[in-house]
Amino acid sequence: MNIVLLGAPGSGKGTAAKRLREDLKIAHVSTGDIFRENLKNETELGKQAKVYMDKGELVPDEITVNMLAERLKSDDTKNGVIFDGFPRTINQAESLDKMLEEKGLKVDIALDFEVPFEEIIGRMANRRTCKECGIPYSLTFNPPKAEGKCDECGGTLIQREDEKPEVVEKRLAIYKEQSEPLIEYYGKQDKLYKAQAGDAVGKNTHQVVDEFEEFLNG
Ligand code: AMP
Repeated sequence: MNIVLLGAPGSGKGTAAKRLREDLKIAHVSTGDIFRENLKNETELGKQAKVYMDKGELVPDEITVNMLAERLKSDDTKNGVIFDGFPRTINQAESLDKMLEEKGLKVDIALDFEVPFEEIIGRMANRRTCKECGIPYSLTFNPPKAEGKCDECGGTLIQREDEKPEVVEKRLAIYKEQSEPLIEYYGKQDKLYKAQAGDAVGKNTHQVVDEFEEFLNG
């Protein structure tokens, strides 16, 4: 089963993807993670992507689509994939359809997380990430035991460049303009599962995933 996760940055896609990977035993492909891995290893791709990522802009489609095509060559994607952070443009969605079609596959369902932007801005302001191992923390929901230090490896916790408030606002504006049309794209194909999440509706990401899995199990 191929599942696309939709929703603004900070809406809970990453958390949902990890849960679904465990529960459904299918691959989790996060283009953001692949870019960050390349950045850490200082690859050519990482250097190209950094320019856009630091500014909160989308990496150009050509670079992103080629990278995803490479990832889909791995055997672990054959039984299905949770696409987290891809597609983010209509062009990427069409490319994904083509890539899957060539393998006789398709996107089966798109899970859309709707969280009010004000809530996302608050969440991002409280998010810290370990510089060494990349584990994310929330100063509100799961603060580290020792201030500024990772519980797992003792690394320093930082605020990611793209989680600084001015960059977050820009990412949300880009989401609205370039990625929100994907809701209609999958809606028209009857592949959309819409979920409202966040404090305002009193539903966290895990509850949304529970309901989604119940829906999948019919
Ligand atoms: P994420 O962790 O998914 O929010 O991704 C972090 C950053 O990586 C984004 O702000 C973009 O700069 C870049 N990125 C990740 N996925 C994509 C994508 N599908 N298209 C373009 N840029 C992407």
